Amino acid sequence: MKIIIHRGIDQIGGCITEIASYGGTKILIDLGHNLPDGDKSSIDSLESPGSLDDLLSGVSHIFYSHYHNDHLGFEAKVSTKTIQHIGALSLSMVRNLRSHMTKAKDLCKEAQASLAALNRFQAYISYKRVQYGDIFVTPLPVSHSAIDAHMFLIECDGKIVLHTGDFRDHGYRGEELLQRINDLLKLRVDVLIIEGTMLARADKRMINEVELQDQAIDLLNRSKYVFVLCSSMDADRLTSFIMAAQRQNKKRRIIADRYQVQQIIAIKKASSKPYNGIFAYNYYNETRIELDRMKRYGFMMFVRNSKTFEKNIDDILTEAAINPHDVLFIYSQFMGYLLKEHKAFKIDLYNFVHRHEWNIVHLHTSGHASKEAIKTLCELANPTTAIIPIHKEGRGSLQTLNLNVDCPIIEYSTVVNDIEIIIK
Ligand SMILES: [Zn+2]
Ligand SMILES: [Zn+2]
Repeated sequence: MKIIIHRGIDQIGGCITEIASYGGTKILIDLGHNLPDGDKSSIDSLESPGSLDDLLSGVSHIFYSHYHNDHLGFEAKVSTKTIQHIGALSLSMVRNLRSHMTKAKDLCKEAQASLAALNRFQAYISYKRVQYGDIFVTPLPVSHSAIDAHMFLIECDGKIVLHTGDFRDHGYRGEELLQRINDLLKLRVDVLIIEGTMLARADKRMINEVELQDQAIDLLNRSKYVFVLCSSMDADRLTSFIMAAQRQNKKRRIIADRYQVQQIIAIKKASSKPYNGIFAYNYYNETRIELDRMKRYGFMMFVRNSKTFEKNIDDILTEAAINPHDVLFIYSQFMGYLLKEHKAFKIDLYNFVHRHEWNIVHLHTSGHASKEAIKTLCELANPTTAIIPIHKEGRGSLQTLNLNVDCPIIEYSTVVNDIEIIIK
């Protein structure tokens, strides 16, 4: 078997792992786009003519661990010879996103091409082991800031590889899902390919989504009028805020736009939690009556950085005569986007968050595995041959975790136990 880490050994995002059998079957785990630096558009060598075709030559299947853009970004450019696979709920959520993107002039063409490609996708089923050529793939559900994320157990040439994708144990179902994976790991694992986003970041205990929900209730108790900025694709986070609002005051109005409501409906289908009473904001229709209720009972409104939301927010504050000083703005994303000295700084987002002189609070927890969760999984898997860390900054190292495992950490090309590992 050959394992090629095309990207990820020294970068977060743009993930691509190839697994090839000696019999000639070639599959990819993720085909992600490089992440942008702050407001700059992302540079990706795979955009240059021919590069993607070279990479995909002979690849029969691509398995996406989840829908984040750094794992799924080139789907429209993949030829019909290669079959692309993702979970069914992920597929619905990406379709909703791309349909929404068609409304923006500059994104419309790209989004339509993506929708056409998504129609050809196949949905894999959690825990169902399927044979592709002489490789077997079993998707294992995990918790991440993208719902319906999966790890993959790959059997090839008598060896077993576990590719974690992005994961964490501090989201809803995080511990339970890792426990199920632990049970499966009673099988032998030869190579573990694991995400290491947090390896280069400071040690800090990460709160879980339940604690975040409780903190959100405290904030809602203090503020009648609340805007929340979080990802419309982050099911756990939407859930945390919706549950917090429902627990805090049943009468408080929960407001989203139509796109966010579509995503919440998709999430609701896969959940037993009650996502009721969410009002889809549309200023020109029934909103007049809703504004009165928002003023009377208070509200929590999901927002995004866009011209439409700027206008909606301004209209609400003006029409309902709400003083911005009485408003709480909860920023629930990565803090680096708002820090001028950080390479991820986004000036547009900063301006949006600071649009009014309201009270701003940061309430967030990472979508990625803590150092302890990484250590736990490495030691549970205790592979026979190698641990390969990916999705990490170059300075992030597994060595610092003092792993109690019997195999080496590999970040260089080598051949070990009949497995050829190539790090590009
Ligand atoms: Zn990622
Ligand atoms: Zn991700």
